[in-house]
Amino acid sequence: MLYKNFIKEVILEIKKTIEKHLNFNLIEKAFGLDYEKIQSIQIELNNIENELDSVFKKIDVGLFTNIGKELEFTNTNEKSIELEISKTPKINGGVKTGKEQKVRNEFNSIFLNFLDIKSLLIDNFLKIKEIIGLRHLYLYLDDFSEIDLEAQKIFVDWFIAPLNNLSENFVKFKIASYRGRLYLGKIDISKIDFIHLDFFEAYNIYKSITRMEELALDYNQRLIENRTKLFFTNSNFYDNFDIKKAELHELLFDVSMNIPRKLGYILSYCYESNLIHGNKITKAAIGNAAQRYYEEITESYFKSNPYITRPFEDKINIANQTNLLDKIVNKQKFNKLTITKSRAKIFNVPNQPTSHFVVNDEFSNLLNNLELNGYLSTYNKIKDKSNISSTLFALDYGLCRKHNLNYGRPKDTDHRKYYSDSRFSLNHLIREHFNSTQVLKCSTGHEFDFELQKQFEIYDMNCPTCMKEGALNKCEVTVSNKELIEKIKDIEKTSLLQVNFDEFRILLALKQFSPVSLPSKKLGELTDFSYQFIAKRIPKLMELGFIEIDEEKSLVLKKEHYLITAKAKERVIDVVISNIEEKIKIK
Ligand SMILES: [Zn+2]
Repeated sequence: MLYKNFIKEVILEIKKTIEKHLNFNLIEKAFGLDYEKIQSIQIELNNIENELDSVFKKIDVGLFTNIGKELEFTNTNEKSIELEISKTPKINGGVKTGKEQKVRNEFNSIFLNFLDIKSLLIDNFLKIKEIIGLRHLYLYLDDFSEIDLEAQKIFVDWFIAPLNNLSENFVKFKIASYRGRLYLGKIDISKIDFIHLDFFEAYNIYKSITRMEELALDYNQRLIENRTKLFFTNSNFYDNFDIKKAELHELLFDVSMNIPRKLGYILSYCYESNLIHGNKITKAAIGNAAQRYYEEITESYFKSNPYITRPFEDKINIANQTNLLDKIVNKQKFNKLTITKSRAKIFNVPNQPTSHFVVNDEFSNLLNNLELNGYLSTYNKIKDKSNISSTLFALDYGLCRKHNLNYGRPKDTDHRKYYSDSRFSLNHLIREHFNSTQVLKCSTGHEFDFELQKQFEIYDMNCPTCMKEGALNKCEVTVSNKELIEKIKDIEKTSLLQVNFDEFRILLALKQFSPVSLPSKKLGELTDFSYQFIAKRIPKLMELGFIEIDEEKSLVLKKEHYLITAKAKERVIDVVISNIEEKIKIK
């Protein structure tokens, strides 16, 4: 329902923009169009709106009749399915997922039948293009990665892809998105250009780390100089600093990794802390500003927005990620201590930084989530001591400052291999972390070591145990149940939790899908409980204020769907997760 209206709104908005543009030109007569031409454009635009209305009416009817039928079918077959479950629980997952897939396919095929973007938009656009003699229509989509995968799929497949592939280059999209947060679907890849904005991707073509750093510094200088030309017409930007120009740019690159938005924040913090008090900006002031940015933006955003900026393929939970970050920081603190005591020549440098570390490329993607959220950045690709392709990561400058780690990379030739020292290789730490808390698990509950992930990927994540039994079930990365069960039982004994472990699992399933609401049946599948078992526990959880009914969805789908409440997240989930974290730390 939401998606449908969204696409409709976008189309109407484009229509309005073209109208505005036309009105403007009517006064200016820039195009030299006569009144008749503008009239005919207006007719085409109205065509779009009229067709849109009738198309969406058809979609409404289609969705209700077809998906309605599908749901009825599900209801009437409920008994026989339940029966099968009790005999062979394994049928459970397959049958129902099939149903759900059917509903989704139904939704897609209805869209395909009625929403013909080509005749609705493209043909009308092309007519307008002819009349005005316009070459391109540019559509800018900013912050596209904020939309979740489900919505991106529909929007990309039914709107962007057809416009991009079939409009004879008339419609051009410019889409801003984070890496790993863009669904490409049916978009013709040969018709798009990728432009990387982060430091490493932009300069990756240069194999030498020194050359990359030079280019990054050059970029930083040009970025600053181009902006200051606009805002410092009567004064010199560099007069505001108590730092030499070359050092300033190096520091600004270190604190921001050349992300303009971050740079802007940090400079405005410096303005607040120094300039308005009549003091020049010092190195320490920039450092403090970087720390403030880390605490106020990076950290708080990650904690308050657990659903938004995660790579789509990422199944690893947030608590697990923060726990991993703590381990990395602790390791670097430990390194700092041992380096101070070391007499090795390689560590004979001022400040002895411990901000960078090396990870084998096979594991480096496990850090995607932390990178996407600004805790660390890919600094370079290198070969480690054993000549294995690896990634040199840099922790965020503000984060380092918060934890008293010196930031930097020794640049003279004698100390070029500083971070190649084995103490900065974090492969073991990362492998152990994921092995101790994450497992691969299939929908029927077979568990495997996380370390086997690469091998599983070759077999398309199919569960080998199930395969021996002649069934196909995919494995997913998840928190080990064994460990979770033990820990939760522990907590149950000692805490004031109002729910038992079974009820906790129901809440956890809701939390994992939140903000999407789920019906009892789906909850049954996710927790391996029967539908009746779930149904019995729902009233208690509602009474405690831990779940609520999703009114709108329940009404449309004629079946009750439940949502987890903020109270449950705060009083149950967070309590349990932080307790688990504590225990891991003690270990
Ligand atoms: Zn299995």
